[in-house]
Amino acid sequence: MSTLVESVLARGLDTKAVVMGRNVVDRTGATFAELFPGQTAVIVADGNTWAVAGEAVRASLAAAGVGLDEPIIYPGTPVLFADDRAAEDLRSRLAQTSAIAVSIASGSLNDLTKLASHRVGRSYLNVCTAASVDGYTSFGAAITTNGIKGTQECPAPRGVIVPLDIMAAAPKRLTATGYGDLIEKVPAGADWIIADELGLEPIDEFVWSLVQGPLREALGNPSGLVTGDPAAIERLAEELIMSGLAMQVFASSRPASGGGHYFSHQWEMEGHGRDWDPPLSHGFKVGLGTVAMCALYERVLDLGLDHLDVAARVAHWPVPAADAARVAALQPGAVIRAACLTQSAAKYLTADQARGRLELVRARWGAIRTRVAAQVLPARVVEHMLRTVGAVHHPYQIGVGLDELRTKYFQAQTIRARYTVLDLLQEVGVLNQLVDGLFEPGGYWYERAQETF
Ligand SMILES: [Zn+2]
Repeated sequence: MSTLVESVLARGLDTKAVVMGRNVVDRTGATFAELFPGQTAVIVADGNTWAVAGEAVRASLAAAGVGLDEPIIYPGTPVLFADDRAAEDLRSRLAQTSAIAVSIASGSLNDLTKLASHRVGRSYLNVCTAASVDGYTSFGAAITTNGIKGTQECPAPRGVIVPLDIMAAAPKRLTATGYGDLIEKVPAGADWIIADELGLEPIDEFVWSLVQGPLREALGNPSGLVTGDPAAIERLAEELIMSGLAMQVFASSRPASGGGHYFSHQWEMEGHGRDWDPPLSHGFKVGLGTVAMCALYERVLDLGLDHLDVAARVAHWPVPAADAARVAALQPGAVIRAACLTQSAAKYLTADQARGRLELVRARWGAIRTRVAAQVLPARVVEHMLRTVGAVHHPYQIGVGLDELRTKYFQAQTIRARYTVLDLLQEVGVLNQLVDGLFEPGGYWYERAQETF
């Protein structure tokens, strides 16, 4: 275990053990016995993950003297979908035993086991099979309820086994997905810097260092990830684990999620690509959202908000009903609209509050600009990195046209109360103008649409 991981676990989190390295699956049994002394285990897998590590996990548990229930093995195809029905199915199976779940999982099945275990009042252990998500070590499970994807409250796993050899051999699409999830931490960091400068959500230096410290190195070798370079996989896997732990320490997803994630959340709520085989992954949508946000940030850096005319802006400040009407018009789906109205109302400012906010923006703009410029990457660089690793980097790849992508910028501003650069631009009154500029000649998306990709 690296010293960085040790320093985080010392904080007394839900997660007590992270066993990372090559050939560590055979440490599953000893880890389980240490975390859950005297308890029985039940392996939860699907056809794919069972084929990869099922027998090795079972042998390791048996060798450590752990009693075993019959494993719960879901079909490998179609890919298990993490919705309420699947969570209830697993909960009812776990309710028939007192055994602790040992999931062998990458994305959805880990989320399902996390939630189902919580619902029967137990913790669990996960054996990670791909460097595909940062949700292994985060609290909360990404579950679709009544067609709407959201995060359900539940603790992170007691322990994770992170076998780098198995992750390196996972399908490349899963590694590319993890990379897309990770690269969003670049503009997400800029969003946090802005919230920090405006006194809304101060940066916790320790948490910041967990995610942002190793980030550039973890993203630095996308071609090595394609060829299965062990060092590249290790850095990616460790950074995904660290992101999840950072969210545990901060008790919020702020350290690992910003506006780029909101593009993905919008597509997820709309069910875009859910029925594809395989379903359009979280990380692919997040990666595209990252390109979108980095393109926007390039324009943000050109703004001279130190000369902002606060009085002129506040003179036309929308009343709550007008702001709600704006949000409602952006969200045609009734269920999504209701959720977004709640989130947006939570960050609505009165004209007086807006005056204070905008004066602060004007006063802090120089510092914001300097710190953000040092944090973000050019959109073309991000696009190239995603392309190299084999992740989605252009909307056409996932059946999204430029008009829809343009709308996504505005929708993304409405779906979470958490403050990002999208809110800053909305408050200042330049969001429309900046986004439109991206789709006009000379703008990032206009130019990208002219090229083959
Ligand atoms: Zn994510």
